[in-house]
Amino acid sequence: MIQSYPLYINGKFIETKEKQSIINPSTGKVIAEASLASLKEVELALDSARSAFDKGEWSRLPSEQRKKFISRIAQGILDNAGELAELESVNTGKPIKETTFMDIPSAAKAFEYAANNFESFLTAEDLKISEEAKANLRREPVGVVVLIIPWNYPLLIACWKLASALAAGNTVVLKPSSLTPLSALKLAQILHEAALPAGVVNVINGSGPKIGEVLCSDKRVDMVSFTGSNETGRQILEYSSANIKKSIMELGGKSASLIFSDCDIDTVVNSSLCSIFLNQGQMCTAMSRIFIQDKIYDKFVASFVQKAKALKLGVAQAHETQMGPLISDSQRKKVIAYIEKARAEGAKILCGGKIPQNPELKNGYFFEPTVMANVSAHMHIFREEVFGPVAIVGKFSDANQAVELANASDFGLASCIWTKDTAFAQNLAEQINSGVVWINTYGMFYNQLPYGGFKRSGFGKELGREGFLEYTRLKNIVIDQSLDNKPLVSHWYGF
Ligand code: NAD
Repeated sequence: MIQSYPLYINGKFIETKEKQSIINPSTGKVIAEASLASLKEVELALDSARSAFDKGEWSRLPSEQRKKFISRIAQGILDNAGELAELESVNTGKPIKETTFMDIPSAAKAFEYAANNFESFLTAEDLKISEEAKANLRREPVGVVVLIIPWNYPLLIACWKLASALAAGNTVVLKPSSLTPLSALKLAQILHEAALPAGVVNVINGSGPKIGEVLCSDKRVDMVSFTGSNETGRQILEYSSANIKKSIMELGGKSASLIFSDCDIDTVVNSSLCSIFLNQGQMCTAMSRIFIQDKIYDKFVASFVQKAKALKLGVAQAHETQMGPLISDSQRKKVIAYIEKARAEGAKILCGGKIPQNPELKNGYFFEPTVMANVSAHMHIFREEVFGPVAIVGKFSDANQAVELANASDFGLASCIWTKDTAFAQNLAEQINSGVVWINTYGMFYNQLPYGGFKRSGFGKELGREGFLEYTRLKNIVIDQSLDNKPLVSHWYGF
């Protein structure tokens, strides 16, 4: 019998009548079922989060105690690391090596970091304004926060948001993607075992289009933190404008890697493979546009294509697999449509571009790593996020042209610069319109460093002090200091 995963509302596990079959994208087979929230369960979750916040059991908990809870969650994730890595891999198609060494330990570290730092981030500030006034600036939790999570890093993104939201004293309704709810529903068990007060975190799996509007517009909600596509982001902003809510938007990307001729070609070819083919290219920060200085273009591209062809596709749970399947058949169809459109517009496929013929992979949603050339800035494949294992390669002659290419995008999430001259790279980084610039590396997220995009990639930060502070509101308390105990306002009408 397949396992059934319940929702978690007000400290209780709730099985609903309506269930979602959860598919393993490596095999196309059903691996579990998850309860699906209807508007009734949304109502319960919102009530539960609101009343838990208003009771103050969590928001006013002494910080040493809150710290203990948050640390317990980190430990709970580590204690269940094997199961979580397996679940994440089997549900998303992400190779087990990635979930084991990246997603799960990083999820635990997000809680460790929050536990160890939130007190210092919440330090109130006293300001002497003038002889008559002093002020106290203090950070408070925002209130009830709705966290909406995409399918590409289900546990990690949930934990980035949850760790900050909880450490800041908020209560939460967490909605994973209905394609990949298993790790979040397992996390609910970990939260329950950590004995978090009922209602502080509620996890509801559900269809975005069915329950999103209520979740994001309801008066009981104070903030929405969303990671996902631009289309959904736009809708959520509309919903949340009904009652004016704070929001964070972590949206799409079309990131550029700039590779200069003085780099070590082998190193950069290897790193560039990761920068587009990890998680089958389903990364918001995927370096889907790779620009190479003309002097090394031919050599670089030849090696890049040869190694892309050699990547080992396979079932995600197999330890030797380097690339798993895409998340779903419809995602694969989207990727194919982008490639067809690019081909019609004149792009040339250097490798990949098709479904692999290996009979062992025929039931999964596999797609070959794809590299395309002959692409120019007006083409769809240059401008739009494919969200799959598709890189375009292009040439530049000098730094000005490289910056121009990198910035020729409506998105502004991340970029990479590869050169031995780091002073030059630093100068270039300042000219690039993206929220993250990696110099001689890719994909290094640190809990200390705020992460988030510019332009159509959204606004607000996750991680670091700034990411934490997003989940707080700043209050300014002014205290009159007049020597005669009469503030200016009491003299105003001359009585
Ligand atoms: P998506 O927008 O389809 O879904 C994201 C979440 O929103 C899911 O939980 C979904 O159920 C929910 N949702 C869908 N419709 C909704 C609605 N009307 N109201 C409320 N919620 C709704 O995105 P996805 O396909 O899951 O993820 C891929 C996208 O996420 C890509 O565009 C990628 O770039 C982006 N992403 C961005 C970052 C970042 O940090 N910037 C990180 C990861 C993914």
